Amino acid sequence: MRDRLRLAVPNKGRLVEPTLALLHDAGLIFDEHDRSLVAHVQNVDLDILFVRTSDIVEFVSDGVADLGITGRDLLVESGSRLPVVRPLGYGRCRLAVAVPADAPFEAVEDLAGLRVATSHPTVTRAFFGDRGVAMEVIGLSGAVEVAPRLGLAEAIVDLVSTGSTLAMNGLRAIADVLESEAVLVTNPEAAEQRAADVAAIDTMVGAVIAARDRKYVMMNAPARQLRELEALLPGLESPSVIPLAHEGMIAIHSVVGADDVWNLLPRLKAAGASGILVLPIEKVIP
Ligand code: AMP
Repeated sequence: MRDRLRLAVPNKGRLVEPTLALLHDAGLIFDEHDRSLVAHVQNVDLDILFVRTSDIVEFVSDGVADLGITGRDLLVESGSRLPVVRPLGYGRCRLAVAVPADAPFEAVEDLAGLRVATSHPTVTRAFFGDRGVAMEVIGLSGAVEVAPRLGLAEAIVDLVSTGSTLAMNGLRAIADVLESEAVLVTNPEAAEQRAADVAAIDTMVGAVIAARDRKYVMMNAPARQLRELEALLPGLESPSVIPLAHEGMIAIHSVVGADDVWNLLPRLKAAGASGILVLPIEKVIP
């Protein structure tokens, strides 16, 4: 067994920046300047391997890396049964069937006997196969969205996030194949033999993700308003209530959903709170 755990992460492409931000936020200290190979984490027995997003599943399956971060779409496409330790909440997109905007196809069945271009041939074959729609699947490694215009295929199966790339290429989606986001995967042997190390990384990464959609809210209020304010604050558990130097006044601290802040603050104020502060949270371990 190696001394140091290895985590494989993307070295290029759209998952790089959010992945590095996650690892730094989790508290791993490393120098990412040499993304071509390995970064030595200074404060944990961990090495970060920078590899192509599409190679990560293989690195983890082979045991070259113990853990990896990649897109769920690539995991499914590889046919691998690597366990997903945790979805990471970024790199969200869907794999969709799209056709030229002016083509007469409305449903997947309308494509029977035609050609579909994709960089996810395995998932695509399974999708059409499950629906009993015979298609010729043309595997491409990139620029899938131009295939219909080039006369290479009548339809595509490609990753879509906002839909603007589809629109720009005169395409429209007619069906969803799968939903994807970045995921943390682990090698089953490593997960068993180094369970504590893997759990520590998962806990810290999970703590960052949990913190991202929460805020810490602090306020002062007359003690008699406590019940009313408490009813507005479904925190992680119960809010902290602290007596203040001024008789009859309290401070209330609570964790709230980041999305709720907008609606919550005016209601807290109306219920008697003052000096309301909203603070970011770095990590949450429930
Ligand atoms: P890359 O091709 O290296 O930029 O990374 C591709 C991975 O990023 C995909 O396999 C997806 O998991 C993820 N991703 C998220 N949104 C998109 C999108 N709109 N287009 C392509 N890939 C996306």
